[in-house]
Amino acid sequence: MSAKNFPVIRRKLLGWYKKNKRDLPWRRTRDPYAIWIAETMLQQTQVKTVLPYYERFLNTFPSVESLARARLERVLRLWSGLGYYRRAENLKTAARQVVRDHGGKLPREYSQLRTLAGIGDYTAGAILSIAFGKNYPAIDGNVRRVLGRLYAIADDPALRDVAIELVRRTQPREFNQALMELGATVCTPRAPNCAACPLKSECLSRSAARPTNHSDGVRAKYFTEVTWPLAIVRCGGKILLHRRAAAALLARLWELPGVEMTRRDGEASALRRQLRDLRVNFAKPRRIGDIRHSITHRRIRAPVYLFDCTALIAAPGPRWRWVPRRRVAHYPVSSMTKKALAVLAAHETRSA
Ligand code: SF4
Repeated sequence: MSAKNFPVIRRKLLGWYKKNKRDLPWRRTRDPYAIWIAETMLQQTQVKTVLPYYERFLNTFPSVESLARARLERVLRLWSGLGYYRRAENLKTAARQVVRDHGGKLPREYSQLRTLAGIGDYTAGAILSIAFGKNYPAIDGNVRRVLGRLYAIADDPALRDVAIELVRRTQPREFNQALMELGATVCTPRAPNCAACPLKSECLSRSAARPTNHSDGVRAKYFTEVTWPLAIVRCGGKILLHRRAAAALLARLWELPGVEMTRRDGEASALRRQLRDLRVNFAKPRRIGDIRHSITHRRIRAPVYLFDCTALIAAPGPRWRWVPRRRVAHYPVSSMTKKALAVLAAHETRSA
C-alpha cells in the first residue's frame, strides 16, 4: 500500500459521495440520538428495511429521555420484525445510562460511549464521526470489504490502521459515510461494479476477474440448518402465544409454540408433545405451509401446523396468553411468528 495515495482516495471518494449519496433521513440530521438509533438499526439490516422502523421509532421516542422512560415491551413492539432484538434491549438500557450518568446527552468521548450497553467500536466510531465530526473510523462490514479490496489486506489491525489514517485528515462525517455508501452500492459483496467505482485506478483488487472479499474469509458465516415446526393453536377467534424467557434468544418476544429440531421428521408429534401440558383437546393438526427464516447463525425451515381446539381453556401459565387475532399486532412478536400468521391468513383465504 502506498500512503501517498491517501489524499487521492479521500478526494475521489468524497467527490463521488457528494454526487451519488442516497437521500436518507438519518443523513439529514446531526442529532446524536437519531444517528445512534439509525446506526443501531442498520447493523445486519438493509436500509430499505430500516426506513419505516426508523421513522416510527423516532416518532414514538423522540428523545433519549422518552426512550429511557418507555416500557421495554413497547420498545420491543416497535422493533418487532427488525430482528436481533438484543439491540432494542440494549438501546433501552443505554438510554437509561445516558439519562442517569450523562444528563440525557450522548457522551462525546470514545471511552464513555463504550460503557453504554450495546455500543461497540463501530457504533462509537459512527456516532463520534457522523454526529460530532470527530476523526474516528467507523468500520462496519461494508468498510471492511472496501478497504480490504482497495489495499488487498485481510487482517483487522492493518485495516484499522488504514481506516484511521484515511479519516485523520478529512471531513469524518462525510468520509465515513462515503466509504459505507461505496460498500453498500458499488463495492458489493458478490458483484462489485468496478467500472463505476471512483477508486478503480487505485484499487489493488480491481484487475482480478472477480475481486476477492479479502476481509470476509475470516468472518465467513457458519450456518446451521434447523427445522423449527410451529403450532398455531386456534380457538374461537383467538390464538395461543408464548412469551420467551428474559435470558433466551429473542428474549421477551411473544411467539407461537414451536420446537427446534435437528431431524426433519416427526414434526407434528414433536409439537403434540410440546402442547401436551396445555390439556387442550385438538382436532388432528393440519400442515398449512412452510416458511424460511434466518436468525443469527441458524437457517430455519419452519413447517406451520394448525391445531384447532374444541374448547377454550385458561392460559396454561403466566408466559402464555390467548390473544384475539386482531390484537396480535399490539404484541412484540417474533418475525417467524409474523410469517407463520401470514401463512394462516393465506390458508383462511384459500379455505373461505
Ligand atoms: S475497484 Fe472494484 S473492488 Fe476495488 S474498491 Fe472499487 S468496486 Fe471495490
